[in-house]
Amino acid sequence: MKQKSQITLKQAMSLKQGEMEEIKLDLLKKIESTKELNAYIQTPIMQEKDKGKIPILIKDNICVKDSEVTCASKILHGFTSPYNATVVEKLLDSNMCAFGRANMDEFGMGSTTEKSCYGRTKNPCDTSRVPGGSSGGSAAAIAAGIAIASLGSDTGGSIRQPASYCGVVGLKPTYGRVSRYGLVAYSSSLEQIGPITQNVEDASLLLDIISGKCNKDSTCMSLESTCTFSQLNPDKSFKIAILEDFIQEASESVQNAYSQTIKILESMGHTLIPKKMLNLDYHITTYYIIAMAEASANLARFDGVRYGSRLEGKNLADLYFNSRSQFGDEVKKRILLGSFVLSSGYYDAYYLQAQKVRTLIKQQYNEIFQDCDMIFLPVAPDVAPTFDSTKSSLEMYLSDIYTIGVNLAGLPAISIPVQKDPLPIGMQFITKSFEEQNILDIAFGLERELGL
Ligand code: GLN
Repeated sequence: MKQKSQITLKQAMSLKQGEMEEIKLDLLKKIESTKELNAYIQTPIMQEKDKGKIPILIKDNICVKDSEVTCASKILHGFTSPYNATVVEKLLDSNMCAFGRANMDEFGMGSTTEKSCYGRTKNPCDTSRVPGGSSGGSAAAIAAGIAIASLGSDTGGSIRQPASYCGVVGLKPTYGRVSRYGLVAYSSSLEQIGPITQNVEDASLLLDIISGKCNKDSTCMSLESTCTFSQLNPDKSFKIAILEDFIQEASESVQNAYSQTIKILESMGHTLIPKKMLNLDYHITTYYIIAMAEASANLARFDGVRYGSRLEGKNLADLYFNSRSQFGDEVKKRILLGSFVLSSGYYDAYYLQAQKVRTLIKQQYNEIFQDCDMIFLPVAPDVAPTFDSTKSSLEMYLSDIYTIGVNLAGLPAISIPVQKDPLPIGMQFITKSFEEQNILDIAFGLERELGL
């Protein structure tokens, strides 16, 4: 399937009410005719209260009042959210609305969107391939031209990696930049909601809308919303760190795309500075220990009593067992491993140790940022894999190698396509906390230069 064009978010903002309703009807038709992609888990409904508002596709782990939120898990079937996530409230305040539910890996645990109770989503650029994950539905819909803009969540790369596999733009904001109120928690200290869009301008626009303080989330900083869009400057020059030692892990096509883009960045007047960093294997082990520990704690509430659809049993233990059996295998495995690393006797050896290495990783980023404005890296070690080609969970975890350090350090990063044919390849810019403007500026400049 070829990538389709769609009206951009920026263009949509200047449309009249009636024109917007026509766009929505057209979108509905396109969604119907691309059902085989399985990007949407339910067809959106046109609602009177949303008349004239710009439709934004929402990942299935973000609460929308009176609508079902399931995190692509059987255990949440039938759960209707009684409230809006803060980001959804902010969309409404800006003449936008939630429109449709994007497929994802169950509870955000995965890198391919194959681990969804609704079945897998296909990559519109090549339907024999995965769209990436866990926000695979959001990215696939943008690439297929069946959403104007969308929201995903990024715990360890789930916005940037599907954006890279589908040839679209994905922005993971600084931890604390965007409220997590109403985002179903997977790993609370790592995740942020962020935009997946057709281009850098739209990502900037959407960040400005969803960011800012929220008194319902104590981890959200008391900062005003960003104003990145009005200040976008594609001509600014930056000092950019490149981590060439890391690139050995990547496929030939990704390595080539990396070195070609470095040349382009140099020709644009940026200064590139080679840097070194701790072995990336530490990023993977640290991330998976912390993410699983937090997941085991966060998912304890889905027991058929407090939350989650209840499957009765002979006694209470049976009821818990039956209800929690509705989790998929990947989720179960992570809950078990997470409980293990938190258990007495192992806590010091695994969890505490991981927290120490996390501090070390943060320090390494800070050292690089002492004389560089940002870091330039690939998003994933290879192009989107074909279905079922990832054999083991471990293989899947290893493919997160370039994205998870950013979450461990709480930094902002943007993924933009540097190649679309034969298959999309994305690269990311990572910068200091709360300096999203830097990476939006450079990405805007590179996007213009590449003309993709
Ligand atoms: N692939 C990573 C994981 O499975 C990241 C997922 C995410 O960012 N939600 O945990």
